[in-house]
Parts: sequence; C-alpha cells; structure tokens
Amino acid sequence: MIMATKKILIVEDEPDLVGVLEYNLKKEGYSVESALTGSEALRKIAAGQLPDLILLDLMLPDISGVDVCRQCRSQERTRTVPILMLTARGEETDRVAGFEVGADDYVTKPFSVRELMLRVKALLKRTSAPIREDDEIRFGTVRVDVPGHRVWVGDGEIGLTVLEFNLLTTLVSRKGRVQTRERLLTDVWDIHADVTTRTVDTHVKRLREKLGQAGEYIETVRGVGYRFAQND
Ligand code: CA
Repeated sequence: MIMATKKILIVEDEPDLVGVLEYNLKKEGYSVESALTGSEALRKIAAGQLPDLILLDLMLPDISGVDVCRQCRSQERTRTVPILMLTARGEETDRVAGFEVGADDYVTKPFSVRELMLRVKALLKRTSAPIREDDEIRFGTVRVDVPGHRVWVGDGEIGLTVLEFNLLTTLVSRKGRVQTRERLLTDVWDIHADVTTRTVDTHVKRLREKLGQAGEYIETVRGVGYRFAQND
C-alpha cells in the first residue's frame, strides 16, 4: 500500500532549529514546509495545500504561536489540523494558553529530536484514525463496548453513568492529547463554559474511582485539564 506523504509545516523563527527539524522530518519521509514568522505561517496555511500537522513555536517575532493556533481553530478549514506546540522551559503560561485555544500536544525545548519525531508520529496517527461509533475500544485493562455502553476493567464490568461513559470515551478516543476542562464541557456536557469547570473535576474524580487501578490512565495536566495516557 502506498501511503500519501504527510506534509508538515514548521513555524519557528530560529533558522538553525528549522534546519535540524527539516532534515530530520524529511529523513522520516515527511514533506516539509517552513515559516519563520506567524504571519508567514498563516499566509502559507491559507494559500497552499493544508498541512497534515503544524509544529508551532509559541515565541515568534510577530504574531504569537498562541494567536496562530487560535486563528487556525477559528476557521472551518483548519479547525482540526493537528498542532504540536514547541515551548521553552518557563513558558508555562503560554503553554496553558496554547491548550486553551486548541493545541493538541507540546514538546518543551530543548527536546531530543527522537522524542519530537515520536510525538509527531503519534499525533498524526491519533488524528488520522478517528474512532467509529461501532468500535470496541481496548486500552490496557480497560475494554469499552461503545454501542452497548458497557465498560470492563479486567474481567469485571463497571457501571458508569451516561456522562461518565461519554467522558471516558471522549478521553480515550483522544488519548495522548490534552483536553481542557472547557473543551470537555463543550464536548461531553454539550454546554459552554458558563457552567463551572469544577463539574469536570468532580466527574473525572468519580470516573477514576470507578476505574480503580485503571483510573491512573487519566492523567491530570496541571492548570489545563486531563489527558488519557498515550501508552498503557
Ligand atoms: Ca521562537
């Protein structure tokens, strides 16, 4: 089977780093385009073929990475393009802001090229294989019968409320990707953030308790939200 080449857009203002990233991504078989500023990135995204993934540095000389991300998410065409943030240590506020406007994952500089390549690969895989309604989901000791609304941990079935079930399937279908409380409220509760985000925390806590040991798969991302583990 011939796989279509995935295209990656690098948005980074340090030319040396762009060079290293380009070299390594091409070596992995991706086609690569790069932009040194936020405005150049937005121009390229608007004009050309849509990238399959955007590697987005947050500290850019003109439009910040957060704003680039926000603009992508606000438009139908670019709403679901996977975005992997590159952040420097100590830029936690920016990282949180990045997640709030819809980034999918992040890597902190300085990073190992190998780790970054794995993250890119994982993110592309997650986003190109959406879980269908009739799927059974298996993760570690957890098994979910989606249409039957039933969940097992090991051999034991556990009883979840509809909300808890939806919360679990939402988290697990986006495993490895941080979900902000606001996004969970929108997607699971179908309400917008005018209801307190503590609701999410309460339900996650209860869901974890019911999952027992498997509750550890749901990770807390401090100040942001939750993430289902990438690997069991
Ligand atoms: Ca930068």
